[in-house]
Amino acid sequence: MIAMAKIFDEADEILLLNQDTEDKAREIIGDRGNHFLKRIEGETAANISACYQCHRCTNACPVSHYMDVKPHQVIRYIQFGWREKLLKSSTIWVCLSCEMCTTFCPNEVQVAETIIHLRNMAAHSSVAPREKQVALFHQAFLESLQYFGRVNEFWLMVALHLKPIVLKEKIQTGTLTEEMALGFRLFRKGKLKLIPRRCKAMGEIRKLYRQERGEMD
Ligand code: SF4
Ligand code: SF4
Repeated sequence: MIAMAKIFDEADEILLLNQDTEDKAREIIGDRGNHFLKRIEGETAANISACYQCHRCTNACPVSHYMDVKPHQVIRYIQFGWREKLLKSSTIWVCLSCEMCTTFCPNEVQVAETIIHLRNMAAHSSVAPREKQVALFHQAFLESLQYFGRVNEFWLMVALHLKPIVLKEKIQTGTLTEEMALGFRLFRKGKLKLIPRRCKAMGEIRKLYRQERGEMD
């Protein structure tokens, strides 16, 4: 394992030092890179192999400044098979899913969809998320969708604050009472609905969740 980690670090350095030497990095990584690339292409139908690193996706991204792995690098990392680096990156949580990268890509690589896919992979893996708060919000958001088929703001906040890490931090920073007071003001103005309305197509939504978890026949 240590030897493998060394090989991957070496390949990473090659990529970062000089793009012209990436063939050597490909050689070092070999089948593992190909396997991950094929897997992501198969699962997303995104043509990752077509990327020629023009950087247009990164230039179009409104939040690339806050990402540790820029959108064009995400695509390159997939080509090289660097799964762990991607799942540990802040990028997959910072991304707004605005699809500017996909719109501006001359090769229709579907960068945004790929990043969303990596985020879901990370959420189902044992890799600790780089942006914990965002990851927990993401989880609460999906739970709300699963139960109601839509997002109810009140129950989304309840689900989020019931997560021990969030609750502990809010108590420590003293923001819990502040947020409760804000919630009460919103409720009085009729902006928060306590009784959630269920989406009519709940059956379809639950089916999608089961498909995602691989529970379908
Ligand atoms: S815009 Fe498309 S082709 Fe250019 S670097 Fe991004 S993904 Fe690759
Ligand atoms: S979808 Fe994500 S990566 Fe693409 S432009 Fe928007 S924020 Fe950036």
